[in-house]
Amino acid sequence: MRKMATLHDNINTIKGIGEKRALAFARLGVYTLYDLLSFFPRRYEDRSVIVPITEAADGIPCCISAVVADEPRLSRIRRGMELVKFRVFDSSGTADITYFNQSWMKNNICRGEEYIFYGKVDTRGQRRSMTNPVFEKAGNRGGVTGNIVPVYRLSRALTQKNVLQSVKAGLEACSGQLPEPIPEEILTRLGLADVKYAYENVHFPTDFQALARARRRLVFEELFLLACAMQRRRTDHTEKKGLRYQMPEPERFYASLPFSPTGAQKRAVRDALEDLTSGRAMNRLLQGDVGSGKTLCAAALAWATAQNGYVTAFMAPTEILAEQHTGTLRALLSPFGMRVEKLTGSMTAKEKRQIRDSLERREIDVLVGTHALLTENVTYPGLGLVVTDEQHRFGVGQRAALAGKNEDAHVLVMSATPIPRTLALIIYGDLDVSILDELPPGRQSVDTFAVDSRYRERLNRFILRQAEVGHQVFVVCPAVEENEEENLLHLKSAEAHAEELRAVFPSLRIGCVHGRMKPKEKEAVMEAFSHGETDVLVSTTVIEVGVDIPNATLMIVENAERFGLSQLHQLRGRVGRGKDKSYCVLVSDTRNEESKARLNVLCETGDGFRIAEEDLRLRGPGDFFGARQHGLPEMHVADLGADTAILKAAKAEADALFERDPLLTHPSHAALRQRIEGMLQAGSITLN
Ligand code: ADP
Ligand code: MG
Repeated sequence: MRKMATLHDNINTIKGIGEKRALAFARLGVYTLYDLLSFFPRRYEDRSVIVPITEAADGIPCCISAVVADEPRLSRIRRGMELVKFRVFDSSGTADITYFNQSWMKNNICRGEEYIFYGKVDTRGQRRSMTNPVFEKAGNRGGVTGNIVPVYRLSRALTQKNVLQSVKAGLEACSGQLPEPIPEEILTRLGLADVKYAYENVHFPTDFQALARARRRLVFEELFLLACAMQRRRTDHTEKKGLRYQMPEPERFYASLPFSPTGAQKRAVRDALEDLTSGRAMNRLLQGDVGSGKTLCAAALAWATAQNGYVTAFMAPTEILAEQHTGTLRALLSPFGMRVEKLTGSMTAKEKRQIRDSLERREIDVLVGTHALLTENVTYPGLGLVVTDEQHRFGVGQRAALAGKNEDAHVLVMSATPIPRTLALIIYGDLDVSILDELPPGRQSVDTFAVDSRYRERLNRFILRQAEVGHQVFVVCPAVEENEEENLLHLKSAEAHAEELRAVFPSLRIGCVHGRMKPKEKEAVMEAFSHGETDVLVSTTVIEVGVDIPNATLMIVENAERFGLSQLHQLRGRVGRGKDKSYCVLVSDTRNEESKARLNVLCETGDGFRIAEEDLRLRGPGDFFGARQHGLPEMHVADLGADTAILKAAKAEADALFERDPLLTHPSHAALRQRIEGMLQAGSITLN
């Protein structure tokens, strides 16, 4: 006899799942019964409502209940292609039904019998047809029709039916064992469904109301657990001892600048200095729109770190940025006799060794670099501060690894990704946050236009005019994936576009950077552009972050519909950095109204936070977080754009709970504590 299955058993312990199917599930990340039960449907098909044939909407799946009017006919239209065709009717009208390559249907369907068919009705004038519908006898409803049917993500060697049956068996075996992480009191007060109900109904809802109730509970659970986990991390941080700095006088640093810092910059530096002198380790996020001047804040803190005799490590996401930050920080810090050096993967072994030796001898005050800061086997005696720029490009592990080079080092994370406030509260629940909500004075807004390729000639004249007065132009093309044939057909690759422009503008110097070039090559092209040796830089989004070229006044984005709004906003931030009026032109031939509306948002506003909110609203989180370049955790059920009310409730409940029981030691919080510890250990929250 089989032993009773428990949640943590491999799925092959239940009936119907053998070695092979277990392997197919493994490809979807489903190993245990708990994983299987948590493998929620991607969507649902409503096979519960029957519509009259003539009222079926064209192209939308639905159920019809109809009688077979004639003998099903089998025909071969060409080799390997067989059709079974017959006509059905209900009281409203008739439809023709066709099955492809399912010759057995001829014997499964009987003339004069009534069946329920589920599928898309195709309408052409008065004629209606259905192809390969799911069916069952009208008298036997409730098998494949008559209900709400879950649709799952599949891997090779798995069918919908396999998954559905497996989940059903899994639920039967152990839905009663699911632990309840949400404290009873919260469930009752918020009227949330319990865990067993939620899991059963998210897979096999009795009706849409039950599905909504199940979903609400699961969304709450997901966000609540995330909020709790972040709270928990915060509690750990706040207990972590840090180097205690002597408070320096930031005015001394500011006095050396060619401009005065904005109020927001001063506030952010002051917040951070308070952390640095508190005796606890700083864990602060500095969030600010592109161009808000985050680097200056980091420089002020690196200065304070050096004043206290410690070293700063500054991690940038790309070689180009590391190079640029090195230059910027050197200019800001060398007046104080500070030494700023660079360490990147493309340096020679000898150069790297020299840097390592200098670090050992404590001759370097600030070391700027890429991943090489971690991977080049460097030790950091006297490490006081770790700064990471554009945080979403680094995983939690990397940052922790660098901070781990000195246990009590302080951490500053800088991000230009504006995240709607409600979301930020949860996502960054473990960090203290400073926001640069003020741009340096004199910044002009960048005039933005959305055009289609009929404007190509005017656009070309515009490029020429900018170049003739000595300004520079960015042209960004979407990254073309080599294996996506479709992309090669429809999208402008950076290289092809650069060739085109060279033909149009023989007098202009045109550079091109794309992701497939070696770092050294990229760097050379970027350098030429930043020194004004080229007029136009055609690139993929490798220039997206950070680079500062004040002489660039025009940003053109090709196939703009392929980019996220926030990403376009980042790109636009590459111009308008100098004194001259700057422009951004979004080129797109999309006919999709929603895409057009999205591009228009950019023409209307320059406010990164508003743009992020619109992005969420218009595209839905699936796309917004699609590439996961925002470093946000992957949500299984929650829709971060739409579930804002639950988001707020979850955050409020998590805060209140930690207020009462910060270490979750109360017996009624045991399941919750276990779950959160599991999350933190597994590193399943991958943000920052
Ligand atoms: P980001 O926040 O996007 O990283 P940067 O730190 O690159 O922004 O700053 C953008 C530009 O603004 C730089 O050229 C910098 O020198 C300039 N800048 C920063 N702070 C000020 C300020 N208070 N006044 C004038 N210019 C500033
Ligand atoms: Mg920056």
